[in-house]
Amino acid sequence: MRDGFLLVLSGPSGVGKGTVCEALLDKRKDIKYSISATTRKKRPQEKNGENYYFLSLDEFKDKIDDGEFIEYAKVHGNYYGTPKSYVVDKIAEGDIVILEIDVQGALQVKENYPGAVYIFLLPPDMKELRSRIEKRATEDEETINLRMNNAKNELSFIDKYDYAVINDEIEKTVKKIECIIEAEKLKVTNI
Ligand code: 5GP
Repeated sequence: MRDGFLLVLSGPSGVGKGTVCEALLDKRKDIKYSISATTRKKRPQEKNGENYYFLSLDEFKDKIDDGEFIEYAKVHGNYYGTPKSYVVDKIAEGDIVILEIDVQGALQVKENYPGAVYIFLLPPDMKELRSRIEKRATEDEETINLRMNNAKNELSFIDKYDYAVINDEIEKTVKKIECIIEAEKLKVTNI
């Protein structure tokens, strides 16, 4: 039986990655969430050390130099990175660790963690995606447009992923991801 592994979850901004992760974490104790570091400004409802580790650019660059990230990338004009130590520890303990990261980061992880499972979360359609980003009301018009353009670019990398899941209803999406996890655990190559 397969032990701990990485589950990489990507998808355009506004697709609902955060909500899906929260629901998965509520449901299963064998899934852990890797908290990323970022240089992005904290949104009002966010907490340092809970949603992200909010760092200055200098602090972030020091961590890059010290090899503290398993991947990092510039996304929508800010840096984001996955701290290495938590991921390594949790996988060794047999947990499934979710990385909610962008396509550039996922491609870097692929080089070093070939056993990771890659899931791309899709919106029902692009109009719905824009309306979800607008509803969040944390971004100005320019940022919304930037995120929509990046979404189109991200979608062109879907063939690098193992699974594509359309996030139309949260409960259904979570069930589908749980099915993927169970199937991955049973893969002959992993037994
Ligand atoms: P947001 O600013 O909306 O929280 O996240 C913006 C984008 O950055 C999302 O696509 C999210 O998946 C991505 N992201 C968050 N954390 C990381 C990370 O550690 N590494 C990479 N490469 N992307 C990340």
